[in-house]
Amino acid sequence: MDSFDHLATAARAYQAQLLSRRVFPSPEAIDALSTLPGAFPSTGLPLEEILALLTSVVSPATVLTTSGRYFGFVTGGSLPAALAANQLAAVWDQNAALRIMSPAAVELEFVALRWIADFLRIPAAAIGAFVSGATMANFTGLAAARHSLLAAHGHDVESLGLFTAPDFPVLVGQEAHVSLFKSLAMLGLGRDRVIRVPADSQGRMRPDAFPSLSQPALVCLQAGNVNTGALDSPELIQLAKQSNSWVHVDGAFGLWSPAANYAAADSWATDGHKWLNVPYDSGIVFVRDPQALSSAMGLTASYLNPGAEFEPMQRGPESSRRARGIDAWAALLSLGRTGLREMIERCCRHARRFASVLARHQQTLAWLTAVQAEGECWLGSTLWSGRRALRISVSSWATTDEDVERSLASLIRHLPAR
Ligand SMILES: *Cc1c(COP(=O)(O)O)cnc(C)c1O
Repeated sequence: MDSFDHLATAARAYQAQLLSRRVFPSPEAIDALSTLPGAFPSTGLPLEEILALLTSVVSPATVLTTSGRYFGFVTGGSLPAALAANQLAAVWDQNAALRIMSPAAVELEFVALRWIADFLRIPAAAIGAFVSGATMANFTGLAAARHSLLAAHGHDVESLGLFTAPDFPVLVGQEAHVSLFKSLAMLGLGRDRVIRVPADSQGRMRPDAFPSLSQPALVCLQAGNVNTGALDSPELIQLAKQSNSWVHVDGAFGLWSPAANYAAADSWATDGHKWLNVPYDSGIVFVRDPQALSSAMGLTASYLNPGAEFEPMQRGPESSRRARGIDAWAALLSLGRTGLREMIERCCRHARRFASVLARHQQTLAWLTAVQAEGECWLGSTLWSGRRALRISVSSWATTDEDVERSLASLIRHLPAR
């Protein structure tokens, strides 16, 4: 057997247990990880032995995020076409930094970006990039915003840094995602210096609480609250535009909702590895003003000699990287516009079914722990308005009606006595 045969055998065995294995690995399987080689061996192991370790020790300790009964965090699974393309792309080992390094990878990425922009109602003139996730997509969009807001004052932030820069207000919703604050911190804009706009009971920015701005600001909207799924109102864009502000949308998963329409914004961050159901790592950023993005992210060197178009590495923080766009291209091609919409609507229908059964029960940590320990499904918890709540994210293409009913049965079995 060559390594491809090994891989096919191991992959088939893994897929075959998706319906039967515990979703979260058993404590024994996790403990067994300590049997893996602890010291860096002085001589290398043969491929067969490495694969044997992976299949016998590591595989049982994986979290079955691809099973259809994994509802922890907003993760998504991997569509079959995306997974296959991802494997082939790994065989090809293309570097998607520049078109001259991989004409095929860059072509597929640019096509996928066009299709995604079209689906998300992002203007065709905006330029996009694949990055590692929505955290980096936020970082990249906000870097373009920082460039633009400071360039308007004649300050070139990429050359001079922030040391002598004029300041500008940064607005975020009270319930903004933690990664947004991290991005602001990485950009020198400050986690805590922001103006937090109060939120309503669903975690949406309250338009009536939106401050009147006397100068251009950086306004960060959110499409998809990680606890409620709620979308900030797109009408806030018009409010922000009255002061010539830059509007960034953190739409890691919510931007894929049929209800999302943020076409008037300036930059958009989203994930491929959530609702598009492509393998990690896959985030996507779009920026309306190509010049702002390339000013923030551009780089040149005598040996690079990039072409006339904006190359991938002039659109994002990374240079050499895997050809993420190939997975996304294959996922989009396999779903089509209708299939993509149906997948998203199916997830929402499953979520409503969970809510209809569970909403009347008091949600406790003991309940969650019992369900997690059984392993039939996996979900997390959160605190919302000071109350404990089960957090059930339905974002995988693989979740079926039967998965939902099996998971509900487990939840009902472990209902705490009142
Ligand atoms: C998941 C998420 C992020 C972070 O995305 P990563 O892909 O984990 O970097 C940011 N914002 C929102 C709203 C999210 O749901």
